[in-house]
Amino acid sequence: MTDSSVFYRSRKPYPTAVRGEGVYLFDAGGRRYLDGSSGALVANIGHGRVEVAEALARQARELPFVHGSQFTSPVLEEYAARLMGFLGLPGFRFWAVSGGSEANESAIKLARQYHVERGEPGRYKVITRVPSYHGASLGALAASGMGARRAIYSPLINEAAWPKMPKPDPSLPGEEDAERLRGVLEEAGPSSVAAFIAEPVVGASDAALTPNAGYHKRIAEICREYGVLFIADEVMSGMGRCGAPLAVRLGGDVTPDLVVLGKGLAAGYAPLAGLAASARVYDTVMNGSGGFKHGFTYAGHPVSVAAGLAVLDVVEREGLTERARVQGERLLAGLRELREKYPVVLEARGQGLLLGLVLGDPTTGAAFGTPGVADRVAKAALSRGLITYPGTGAVDGTRGDHLLLGPPLTITDAELGEMLAALDGALEAATREQVG
Ligand code: PLP
Repeated sequence: MTDSSVFYRSRKPYPTAVRGEGVYLFDAGGRRYLDGSSGALVANIGHGRVEVAEALARQARELPFVHGSQFTSPVLEEYAARLMGFLGLPGFRFWAVSGGSEANESAIKLARQYHVERGEPGRYKVITRVPSYHGASLGALAASGMGARRAIYSPLINEAAWPKMPKPDPSLPGEEDAERLRGVLEEAGPSSVAAFIAEPVVGASDAALTPNAGYHKRIAEICREYGVLFIADEVMSGMGRCGAPLAVRLGGDVTPDLVVLGKGLAAGYAPLAGLAASARVYDTVMNGSGGFKHGFTYAGHPVSVAAGLAVLDVVEREGLTERARVQGERLLAGLRELREKYPVVLEARGQGLLLGLVLGDPTTGAAFGTPGVADRVAKAALSRGLITYPGTGAVDGTRGDHLLLGPPLTITDAELGEMLAALDGALEAATREQVG
């Protein structure tokens, strides 16, 4: 729209969305789209839930805002307790913010302050993985191992503060794979490291890559051994999306020191993200120099938190975590059939309803085409009324590029069938010329 005052993210044409209902979005021209990526893996309970809208309106009428450094609120107290119960994090404390980047900034700062309070101010580095995505703000971006997003803002904040660990290697047993952290720690100098952060099921940077069972448990053990905090970035993978309240526990019983959440928390009905901190970390910071030296104007926003509470009611009442597991298995089975049919699909993978396709040249495994094959498939899917979440292109230039799939956890069998049929057509159309 040339006469628009909106600062768009790019010059591509944007349809105007006017309504959402269940797994569908409708544009101003009356066109219907199946939201196969829940936006950016956000709309976990589907669109247009009246009970959530009413909870928001009730809270806005009663108490729209208080500043988190002056007040708490009944809705925040109730939500924090309910959420920690749902996630299975007894004794943890919940810090509510507006987005995943803010939540990761909070986690990184809390980890650093924890060590300062313990008399180890030299522990400032945070080990992160390549690839990874932890957010767009400068600190979270510096933590992220995602070349395409980082390059233009280089040099990022203190590049030396973010030692990098390779991505999980599913050809290795989980414990052995996790042991690679030890080498990165030793090289970084263990007494300079505050934390290790990772996405338990990788999101946008590596389409639902999942380490083998035992990985996270061993990561947690190594972190303990070296006095380093383990931060699980569950912004995308948490809240039931992967078929468990927390994806980090899918391959073994483990409790990270800090858990970062976002997206599905309020499922898009309001901006809400947050950080769950263990009692050990919370108490150390509270008993130290006097509280967390950090804050945001909208931390603990009552309306956002009311949305979170209403969404949690839906997730629990409708058993959406289990539903994500069951429907995820069905979708993955369908994606594996597409892999058999189209050589360009190198891999179909993921957990629950956080699934991904790795696309590339069937002989070399490399990404190809301009625009890349994933972008072409995404475009062809969109023309068939299916929204997917295209990846960021080949991460290391050798292993294809990606498409993330993550419909609302409420998706029915018939809607799954519709999604797979659209993908089938899109793969056929987008790869017809390239692959014989
Ligand atoms: N962490 C992960 C794993 C994410 O997937 C994202 C967003 O995609 C973020 C953090 C950043 O969240 P936000 O975009 O809400 O700031």
